[in-house]
Amino acid sequence: MADVHTPEQRSFNMSRIRGKDTKPEMIVRQFLHKNGFRYRIHVKDLPGKPDIVMPKYRTVIFIHGCFWHGHEGCRYFIIPKTRTEWWTNKIMTSRRKDQENTQSLRNAGWNVVTIFECELRPLLREKSLKNLLLYLRAPSADSLDFNDHE
Ligand SMILES: [Zn+2]
Repeated sequence: MADVHTPEQRSFNMSRIRGKDTKPEMIVRQFLHKNGFRYRIHVKDLPGKPDIVMPKYRTVIFIHGCFWHGHEGCRYFIIPKTRTEWWTNKIMTSRRKDQENTQSLRNAGWNVVTIFECELRPLLREKSLKNLLLYLRAPSADSLDFNDHE
Protein backbone atom coordinates (compact mmCIF):
# COMPACT_ATOMS: atom_id res chain seq x y z
CA MET A 1 0.00 0.00 0.00
CA ALA A 2 1.34 3.40 -0.98
CA ASP A 3 2.27 5.75 1.81
CA VAL A 4 0.02 8.71 1.19
CA HIS A 5 1.04 10.67 4.26
CA THR A 6 2.92 13.92 3.96
CA PRO A 7 5.98 14.09 6.21
CA GLU A 8 4.03 16.40 8.47
CA GLN A 9 1.20 13.89 8.89
CA ARG A 10 3.65 11.08 9.37
CA SER A 11 5.33 12.82 12.26
CA PHE A 12 1.89 13.64 13.67
CA ASN A 13 1.01 9.96 13.61
CA MET A 14 4.37 8.70 14.77
CA SER A 15 4.23 10.92 17.80
CA ARG A 16 1.29 8.79 18.87
CA ILE A 17 2.98 5.48 18.39
CA ARG A 18 4.69 4.57 21.58
CA GLY A 19 6.23 1.41 22.85
CA LYS A 20 6.19 -0.08 26.29
CA ASP A 21 7.25 1.91 29.32
CA THR A 22 5.82 5.15 28.06
CA LYS A 23 6.27 8.08 30.35
CA PRO A 24 2.68 8.27 31.66
CA GLU A 25 2.88 4.65 32.68
CA MET A 26 6.13 5.27 34.50
CA ILE A 27 4.49 8.10 36.44
CA VAL A 28 1.89 5.70 37.77
CA ARG A 29 4.36 2.92 38.46
CA GLN A 30 6.70 5.19 40.37
CA PHE A 31 3.81 6.58 42.37
CA LEU A 32 2.55 3.12 43.32
CA HIS A 33 6.02 1.96 44.25
CA LYS A 34 6.64 5.03 46.37
CA ASN A 35 3.39 4.33 48.23
CA GLY A 36 4.37 0.77 48.96
CA PHE A 37 2.20 -0.98 46.38
CA ARG A 38 3.56 -3.93 44.49
CA TYR A 39 2.47 -4.81 41.00
CA ARG A 40 3.18 -6.77 37.89
CA ILE A 41 3.44 -5.17 34.48
CA HIS A 42 2.28 -6.10 30.97
CA VAL A 43 0.47 -9.23 32.02
CA LYS A 44 -0.21 -10.98 28.75
CA ASP A 45 -2.67 -13.59 29.96
CA LEU A 46 -5.33 -11.06 30.99
CA PRO A 47 -7.76 -9.42 28.55
CA GLY A 48 -6.25 -6.31 27.00
CA LYS A 49 -2.83 -6.95 28.59
CA PRO A 50 -3.25 -4.46 31.42
CA ASP A 51 -0.30 -2.11 31.95
CA ILE A 52 -0.27 -2.67 35.69
CA VAL A 53 -1.71 -5.60 37.61
CA MET A 54 -2.05 -5.64 41.39
CA PRO A 55 -3.10 -9.19 42.34
CA LYS A 56 -3.29 -8.38 46.04
CA TYR A 57 -5.86 -5.66 45.33
CA ARG A 58 -7.53 -7.60 42.54
CA THR A 59 -7.04 -4.48 40.46
CA VAL A 60 -5.75 -3.86 36.98
CA ILE A 61 -4.76 -0.48 35.60
CA PHE A 62 -4.81 0.61 31.99
CA ILE A 63 -2.99 3.76 31.00
CA HIS A 64 -4.49 4.80 27.72
CA GLY A 65 -3.27 7.27 25.13
CA CYS A 66 -6.06 9.78 24.49
CA PHE A 67 -5.76 9.51 20.73
CA TRP A 68 -5.60 5.75 20.15
CA HIS A 69 -8.23 5.00 22.73
CA GLY A 70 -10.53 7.82 21.67
CA HIS A 71 -10.80 9.69 24.96
CA GLU A 72 -14.23 11.23 24.59
CA GLY A 73 -14.43 14.98 25.02
CA CYS A 74 -10.67 15.24 25.32
CA ARG A 75 -8.78 17.90 23.43
CA TYR A 76 -6.00 15.41 22.69
CA PHE A 77 -8.44 13.23 20.81
CA ILE A 78 -8.86 14.82 17.42
CA ILE A 79 -9.57 12.70 14.36
CA PRO A 80 -7.19 13.76 11.58
CA LYS A 81 -8.77 15.65 8.70
CA THR A 82 -7.30 13.25 6.17
CA ARG A 83 -8.46 9.64 5.99
CA THR A 84 -11.05 10.60 8.54
CA GLU A 85 -13.19 7.52 8.03
CA TRP A 86 -10.21 5.19 8.37
CA TRP A 87 -9.14 6.82 11.61
CA THR A 88 -12.68 6.86 12.97
CA ASN A 89 -13.07 3.14 12.32
CA LYS A 90 -9.71 2.37 13.83
CA ILE A 91 -10.40 4.28 17.00
CA MET A 92 -13.97 3.02 17.35
CA THR A 93 -12.58 -0.50 17.10
CA SER A 94 -10.03 0.13 19.80
CA ARG A 95 -12.70 1.66 22.04
CA ARG A 96 -14.95 -1.33 21.55
CA LYS A 97 -12.07 -3.65 22.44
CA ASP A 98 -11.35 -1.62 25.54
CA GLN A 99 -14.96 -1.99 26.63
CA GLU A 100 -14.95 -5.72 25.97
CA ASN A 101 -11.72 -6.16 27.91
CA THR A 102 -13.06 -4.17 30.84
CA GLN A 103 -16.20 -6.29 30.90
CA SER A 104 -14.29 -9.58 30.74
CA LEU A 105 -12.01 -8.46 33.56
CA ARG A 106 -14.93 -7.34 35.70
CA ASN A 107 -16.69 -10.64 35.07
CA ALA A 108 -13.56 -12.38 36.32
CA GLY A 109 -13.71 -10.30 39.49
CA TRP A 110 -11.09 -7.65 38.75
CA ASN A 111 -11.43 -3.99 39.56
CA VAL A 112 -10.57 -2.06 36.43
CA VAL A 113 -8.96 1.34 36.52
CA THR A 114 -8.54 3.32 33.31
CA ILE A 115 -6.33 6.37 33.36
CA PHE A 116 -5.98 8.50 30.27
CA GLU A 117 -2.69 10.18 29.52
CA CYS A 118 -4.15 13.68 29.77
CA GLU A 119 -5.05 12.91 33.39
CA LEU A 120 -1.36 12.48 34.12
CA ARG A 121 -0.31 15.81 32.69
CA PRO A 122 1.15 18.15 35.30
CA LEU A 123 -2.07 20.06 36.03
CA LEU A 124 -4.13 16.97 36.85
CA ARG A 125 -1.49 14.49 37.88
CA GLU A 126 -1.63 15.02 41.62
CA LYS A 127 -5.42 14.80 41.72
CA SER A 128 -5.53 11.72 39.49
CA LEU A 129 -2.93 9.87 41.53
CA LYS A 130 -4.69 10.79 44.75
CA ASN A 131 -7.94 9.40 43.32
CA LEU A 132 -6.11 6.23 42.40
CA LEU A 133 -4.78 5.88 45.93
CA LEU A 134 -8.25 6.38 47.43
CA TYR A 135 -9.64 3.84 45.04
CA LEU A 136 -7.01 1.23 45.89
CA ARG A 137 -7.73 1.65 49.56
CA ALA A 138 -11.49 1.30 49.07
CA PRO A 139 -12.42 0.00 45.63
CA SER A 140 -15.99 0.71 44.68
CA ALA A 141 -18.04 -1.73 42.68
CA ASP A 142 -17.65 0.34 39.57
CA SER A 143 -14.58 0.83 37.52
CA LEU A 144 -12.71 3.99 38.17
CA ASP A 145 -13.03 6.38 35.30
CA PHE A 146 -11.70 9.86 35.62
CA ASN A 147 -13.83 12.40 33.87
CA ASP A 148 -11.65 15.42 34.07
CA HIS A 149 -9.74 16.79 31.18
CA GLU A 150 -6.92 19.22 31.25
ZN1 LIG B 1 -7.60 12.69 27.34
